[in-house]
Amino acid sequence: MSAGYNTKCRSCGQDSFVIWDYLSLRHKGKDIPLPHPGESHHLEEKFSLTENEAALAGRLHRNDCWVCGSCKEVFYKQSLSLPDDPPPSKNSTRVLVVLWVLVLAFLFFKGIHTLWIMVVGIVSGVIFTLVVPSIEGRRIRKRLIAQYSISDITTCPKCESGQISRLPELALNDGDEIANPCPHCESRDSVITGSFMS
Ligand SMILES: [Zn+2]
Ligand SMILES: [Zn+2]
Repeated sequence: MSAGYNTKCRSCGQDSFVIWDYLSLRHKGKDIPLPHPGESHHLEEKFSLTENEAALAGRLHRNDCWVCGSCKEVFYKQSLSLPDDPPPSKNSTRVLVVLWVLVLAFLFFKGIHTLWIMVVGIVSGVIFTLVVPSIEGRRIRKRLIAQYSISDITTCPKCESGQISRLPELALNDGDEIANPCPHCESRDSVITGSFMS
């Protein structure tokens, strides 16, 4: 879901908008906003990447809109969009298969019952589908945060006021002032003209 406010420039009358949040892809040193809805479709079509692949490479960013309570400046805070639990890597697959074969060989040579072989099968299935992806996911997310840490913005980039709020937390009304840059004349003198949700 994407939501935000429509704005109008008070200098030239140009209509524009501010959006609660959006995803962007880091590509050749630039952040490319991904159209919503259909971010993953756009990634595959234009960049041949799945959302998880882009996230695993530390290239997928979430941009949250904030507004300064003092000067009404609109700015976006960026953070990494982290991958979901990734599928087990080739290495962990190999380790589990080797362990599984060793346990089965041990049971076989001991002349132990097929019931135990089934138990080993079920336990290794659970480890492989639930435990390994969640451990690997945690490790990968930790590495991505360390590698691509983005410094958090705690004050307004324009007037340095600490009174900043996320856009969705502000109940803005039509006619309220907001310093949203105009795409036509670059004035930041604009007002809210409505809200949207899509
Ligand atoms: Zn400010
Ligand atoms: Zn304008």
